[in-house]
Amino acid sequence: MAADILFPVVFISHGSPMMALEPDETAAFLMTLGRDLPRPQAVLCVSAHWETGAPAAGAPARPETIHDFYGFPRPLYEIEYPAPGAPALAERAAALTGGTVEPDRGLDHGAWMPLRFMFPDADVPVVQLSVQPGRDAAHHLALGRAVAPLRGEGVLILASGGVTHNLREFGQHHVDDAPEEYATEFEAWATAAVEAGDVDAIARATGAPHYARSHPSPEHFLPLPVAMGAGGGPGRVIHSAWIRGVLSMRAFAFG
Ligand code: ZN
Repeated sequence: MAADILFPVVFISHGSPMMALEPDETAAFLMTLGRDLPRPQAVLCVSAHWETGAPAAGAPARPETIHDFYGFPRPLYEIEYPAPGAPALAERAAALTGGTVEPDRGLDHGAWMPLRFMFPDADVPVVQLSVQPGRDAAHHLALGRAVAPLRGEGVLILASGGVTHNLREFGQHHVDDAPEEYATEFEAWATAAVEAGDVDAIARATGAPHYARSHPSPEHFLPLPVAMGAGGGPGRVIHSAWIRGVLSMRAFAFG
């Protein structure tokens, strides 16, 4: 346990739930990441798959595993990730963000799928923090700044979304298609902003080249500004991969 250091902040692209059944290079990266990071006392996971009007923190002592996807093979619905919750951390996150505590909120696949590779023994407590699709990137930068003090309290802030996330195009592509040019250009734009610590660029992301095609809806982008706000400076690329030529699986670390 490490509470006397400043934890890095990690942004990951979580991709498809199928990674849980068919571990790929990104799953291998997540396993290595979990081993390489200092061991956290808890994880605060900002998942694209919990959308609320105002910030909310999940506070059950024993969060249920939520199978929040449709039409996938049955074994995916039988996976459980029995990590404990951390009600006190949820209260603290709610206080820092001016948000609410949700006593019954479990873990969605934006949280449990990557965490199952990072911490396979499910022995690190997890609290989820929601995103607000009705609010802009500047709001999410501020959300990240608000929870940044937790980095000095043994908490790993894990932001789980996607650098690009056009599911309609995902369904139109084959498994090993080469990356689409627009998607690589948006990935390069986001990477440049992360590496420069350019929060002003991220705050204006909706005006970036190919934003609208990369994010037909904003929820998978918004964990990135949260990570940048919590990171408080430039970040670096720690993983890159593509799924079906349209889902960038790039990950960043800050601090
Ligand atoms: Zn997702």
